[in-house]
Amino acid sequence: MAYQINDDCISCGACAGACPVGCISEGDSKYVIDESACVDCGTCAGACPVGAPNQA
Ligand code: SF4
Ligand code: SF4
Repeated sequence: MAYQINDDCISCGACAGACPVGCISEGDSKYVIDESACVDCGTCAGACPVGAPNQA
């Protein structure tokens, strides 16, 4: 299952820089994960200060 970013996201960008496959980008109100590219590594969850990325 891919990761998804919930509404707790504060758009700091830390996860996008940490993702090994570069599948996180800035969306309108929060960062978003391209679930078709996500390899489910969990790095984004570890990098996020507010725990916004979670497994769907
Ligand atoms: Fe990127 Fe890994 Fe997070 Fe998927 S789980 S969005 S591959 S850092
Ligand atoms: Fe949002 Fe967390 Fe990513 Fe920062 S690290 S952009 S708060 S999901």
